[in-house]
Amino acid sequence: MNFTEFGFDDRLLDGIDAMRYEKATPIQEEVIPPIIEGRDIMACAQTGTGKTAAFLLPVMHKLLTEPHHAQKINSMVIVPTRELAVQISQTLEGISYFTNISSIAVYGGGSGANFAIEKKALSSGVDMVICTPGRMIAHLNMGYVKMDELRYLVLDEADRMLDMGFHDDIVKIISYLPKERQNLLFSATMPDKMRKLAMSILRNPVEVNI
Ligand code: AMP
Repeated sequence: MNFTEFGFDDRLLDGIDAMRYEKATPIQEEVIPPIIEGRDIMACAQTGTGKTAAFLLPVMHKLLTEPHHAQKINSMVIVPTRELAVQISQTLEGISYFTNISSIAVYGGGSGANFAIEKKALSSGVDMVICTPGRMIAHLNMGYVKMDELRYLVLDEADRMLDMGFHDDIVKIISYLPKERQNLLFSATMPDKMRKLAMSILRNPVEVNI
């Protein structure tokens, strides 16, 4: 399937061309249309399947084509590790190159200067936040994070986050979010505890297995 068939905004199609993606991968074909329609997603997908672009592209398309708040945080991707946050940010910057979508990666272990940069973005508003759970909680505890207009939440490598002991942190972050939002969950495996957490977060999700 060609990316033009999803009806993507032209600025995104230019980014996709620049990234040299020619055809959508199977996970992208399965999840992009229901995400554009506004459905929640529970996807079993491994790394290497193109899952990152499968959630970034439709969320960006919606940010570009629907009214959104420049002074707020519009979407958040929660990931288990700093490495994954950096990797997703790099893909995001490539795909969004021709757009005005703003983003910030928020992860632990950086310098104090990083914390200040993150704080500035989180308090003045940014379209997409890519974060690790512990670092996001540190910012939320300070009280300046503007989550009241957040519309898209992505949990990536959710099973790995549970294995790393982030269950309570994820629940805490979600407690700060508006109830009315779209939720996309990606996981390599779907053990019982994963399914239980998924069912407490997702609303009538489309289930996809790749
Ligand atoms: P991921 O599974 O998200 O880690 O992606 C694996 C790799 O596939 C990354 O290097 C992506 O940039 C690349 N990729 C994602 N979607 C496509 C596509 N439709 N065509 C070619 N490469 C892609």
